[in-house]
Order: sequence, then C-alpha cells, then structure tokens
Amino acid sequence: MSPDTPGPRGPVDATRVPRYGGPPTFARLPRLDEVSRADVTIVGLPFDTGVSYRPGARFGPGHVRASSKLLRPYHPALGTHPFGTQQVADAGDLGLNPFDIAEALGTAERGLTALSQDGSTLVSLGGDHTLALPALRALAKQHGKLAVVHFDAHLDTWDTYFGAPYTHGTPFRRASEEGLVDLERSVHVGTRGPLYSAQDLEDDGVLGFQVVRADDYETDGVARAVERVRRRVEGAPVYVSVDIDVLDPAAAPGTGTPEAGGLTSRELLHTLRGLVGAHVVGADVVEVAPAYDHAEITGIAAAHVVYELLSVLAATRSGS
Ligand code: MN
Ligand code: MN
Repeated sequence: MSPDTPGPRGPVDATRVPRYGGPPTFARLPRLDEVSRADVTIVGLPFDTGVSYRPGARFGPGHVRASSKLLRPYHPALGTHPFGTQQVADAGDLGLNPFDIAEALGTAERGLTALSQDGSTLVSLGGDHTLALPALRALAKQHGKLAVVHFDAHLDTWDTYFGAPYTHGTPFRRASEEGLVDLERSVHVGTRGPLYSAQDLEDDGVLGFQVVRADDYETDGVARAVERVRRRVEGAPVYVSVDIDVLDPAAAPGTGTPEAGGLTSRELLHTLRGLVGAHVVGADVVEVAPAYDHAEITGIAAAHVVYELLSVLAATRSGS
C-alpha cells in the first residue's frame, strides 16, 4: 500500500472513546455504508424459527456485537492486524420473516448474495443454524462446491424434524442434496452427545463428511485435530460454520441445545487459527441465545471466534 493510499478504516479509537461506549457495530467497526467497499463484511441474521429446543438465537447478533467491544486491534499469535490490513465493516442485520422459514431463507440468500458479489468475504452472526443453508447457496453460486468445516456438537444432517425439511438440525443434509458441498473435503468438528440411534451416524457417513469428535481432542490432542482439518480442506473454497454449542456449556451456556463434554474456547480458537492459508470465502457463528447467557460468557466466546476468523483472513491475505 503506497503512503498516499488511505488504509482501511478501523474501529473507533479506544484511547478517545472508552470501549463501553461508541457505535453498536461489531468491534466498533465502521458500518458498510461508511466505507467504499469491504474486504470482509459482517452481517447479522436475527432469526430462530428453525430451532428445536430453546428459542432465543434471534437476539444473537446484537449480543455478539455487544460482547465484542473489548477486542483489540493486534493478534499477537498470528502477528496480524485484522482491522488494519483489510477493510472490515458491519452491514447491520437482514430483515428475515419470523413466521415463514422458506421466505426467510430466500431473503437471506438474496441479501448474502448482494453482500458478497463484489468478492467480499462474508461473516454472518446468527441466528440459528438453518441460516447456513442460504449462505452456502449464495456462496456456491460464485465459487462452486464448498469445503465445509462445521464446528458443532451435532451433525445437523438429519432429514426432517416433525416433517419439516428446513430446521436448524438439517442444513447440511439439504446443502448436500443441493450439490453445494464438496463432501470429499468437508468435516464435522466437535460432535458428541446422545443421538436418536446409530443410524444417525450411518446416514451422515453415507453423505461423506469426515468427523473429528470432541473425544478426539482428548485422545489425540489439538495438534492432530488441526492437522486433520487443514488437510481435509486444502485447495478448496472453504465455508466455516461455527455452532457455538461446539463449546462445552461451561464455555457457552447461552445456546439452544447444549451438550456436555464439549471443546474449550482455547481448543476452538486454536483449531480456527490452523486455517491460515486456507481459501475461506465465508463463515458464520450461530446459535448464540443470550437469554441463557451469564456475564456475556457465550457472547465473548462468539466475539472471539469472529475475531479469530478475521485474523485468519488477514494473515492469509498478507501471505503469512
Ligand atoms: Mn448444535
Ligand atoms: Mn448446529
């Protein structure tokens, strides 16, 4: 960048406006309409009509933004400035119909397509996991089949729930059927907990996802998990989907379908960091339900997940 070129516009200066004040955007970044274009666009998807247990993720985007105010501009482990070497901006929330899932998915797909068609990388704040489907639809139109790195306690490849095909437990089944997913390069990470039957795993296995179970972190260690994920997605356009319930309920109590025995936030952040160099074209952090959160535990975890993703994008962009 030449000295005459203004750099990206970053967050509000914390030496002038204390962190508890300032704009309600993610990390106090500029709004999308305040910059000419963004390399990375953050967008809120307030919608939870697809949930099967506790509702409340419709309040997730605002909560994650509120929990992101303390994030600082330098990532020491990656040696990168995620807001300084790329323009990151907050596009606000899309208006999604809470009474009609199919219409909401259509609105989300059109909105996400519009926000990403100039090549901007999308980072969505959910919202429930149903919303991964319109994101994959929008991005597969541009990039072709996507390698999906899916962090979740659950497989989310169930067929239907109460006869409904579009729920937060089915997005990766529908996306696979629609040909949006490169199933030879996709992986579930952090799965655990009781299933309906062994058939759930067999059905998922037929689709082709690889699985790094939460237990594998215990038996094989974090480095092995990182290596498996890296090798799996090499060379493909990647979508990273983070259901916050991949974390143990101790690290993320504010979510709709919590399962004991999950990842620590350190394990999750470390695994995400391993994606430096991968061609990440989009990501989401979903299932944050603030009504069950305490002391912003879940919101802070989710904000740090987004920060890690932004740092991975910055480090990859600068070739480190
Ligand atoms: Mn889940
Ligand atoms: Mn999920």
